[in-house]
Amino acid sequence: HERVFSGVQPTGHLTLGNYLGAIRKFVAMQERHECIYCVVDMHAITMPQNPTELINATRSVAAAFLAAGIDPAQHIVFNQSRVHEHAELAWVFNCVARMGWLNRMTQFKEKAGKDRENASVGLFAYPALMAADILIYRATHVPVGDDQKQHLELTRDIAQKFNNDYSDRIAELGLGIEMHIGRETVSGYFPLTEPVIEGPATRIMSLRDGTKKMSKSDPSDLSRINLTDTADEIARKIRKAKTDPEPLPSEAAGLAERPEAANLVGIYAALADMESDAVLAEFGGKAFSEFKPALADLAVEVLSPVAGEMRRLIADPGHIDGILADGAERASAIAAPVMADVRRIVGLGA
Ligand code: ATP
Ligand code: MG
Repeated sequence: HERVFSGVQPTGHLTLGNYLGAIRKFVAMQERHECIYCVVDMHAITMPQNPTELINATRSVAAAFLAAGIDPAQHIVFNQSRVHEHAELAWVFNCVARMGWLNRMTQFKEKAGKDRENASVGLFAYPALMAADILIYRATHVPVGDDQKQHLELTRDIAQKFNNDYSDRIAELGLGIEMHIGRETVSGYFPLTEPVIEGPATRIMSLRDGTKKMSKSDPSDLSRINLTDTADEIARKIRKAKTDPEPLPSEAAGLAERPEAANLVGIYAALADMESDAVLAEFGGKAFSEFKPALADLAVEVLSPVAGEMRRLIADPGHIDGILADGAERASAIAAPVMADVRRIVGLGA
């Protein structure tokens, strides 16, 4: 049984990277899968958050899901903190995951920065909570941006170690499901989840630094395009985006050593649903002064309907809260029996 799960943190304004790398793919997957899309507010508090802003940002991410075209009647849209099984399973996974595994996570190193002693324990344990978010639904597919690849590998490691550590007990209780790994068939309780990191825009880079990913928590607003930016703001940010002085090459191969140019061409290609080579067939040999206004127009054309719908939805917070509450109820109906199984497998509760 295939099931899709993914989440977005309510930490600041959603970016073009979140839209192209994640949310737009969520929309595409709902055609043929059962999907669960979550606003992961408990992840957000691994870094300091203002409580009122956190609530607003939670509604705003939910609004973006809906505005982009996710159907909350056919699928499930909710926020993480409403379904307490996420936290409960995360504790079990904290006891399955090894310190050494988490020590290798690059996101922790980047987010903790130099003052690692002062990072929250939650920031360190973040990937175990993420594994719980996915596995509490026994989800098989997770659409994400490239930056989350390492966390998904860890999710598989946690599932596999849980399955191994408790294999006798899982068999005794008759709770195993069969899974195919290469040519082998193994049995376990949790599936080994597949990341879905495909197509263009798996990693949109900062507009100020072509080696850094675009992030909603980046302190520089000029580094990113927010979904809710006005047409003027989008045009200004693209105009100010860092580039090199050369004109655009005529083929994608010519972008190899030019991270900023590659990023802008990649964004254009993703927005237009074209290959980079096709974009360069049109803009090869032209200067950025000509390419940037075309890119800005395209970005406005794609984002403004989404932003408009988001604004309309956010104006009625009660409506969004209703959708989140309904989604949480349906998510709980899946999560509660899984958590009950886990308690029996592990031996928690009499
Ligand atoms: P933060 O800086 O708070 O971590 P973020 O922009 O990284 O914010 P997340 O909520 O952590 O956003 O991630 C939500 C989804 O968006 C994930 O699937 C992630 O891989 C994807 N994503 C984030 N940034 C990018 C990007 N620059 N390009 C493509 N996908 C991205
Ligand atoms: Mg992130």
